[in-house]
Amino acid sequence: MKLDIPPHKKRCAKCKYSVKLQSTVLCDYLEKTGHRRDCDAETCTKFESRRRKKND
Ligand code: SF4
Repeated sequence: MKLDIPPHKKRCAKCKYSVKLQSTVLCDYLEKTGHRRDCDAETCTKFESRRRKKND
């Protein structure tokens, strides 16, 4: 059975501020930056890709 994962959760899974606990993706922005996110996960403006850019 395929679970319906909300789009923002899929985005969080690719975000460098997320952590995976068992099969759950959680936002760890506060712990990693020391700042509150101050936005909803659904409309988060703090997303940063976990992938490095080619020339990094
Ligand atoms: S910073 Fe935003 S996009 Fe990244 S894990 Fe947290 S809620 Fe998701």
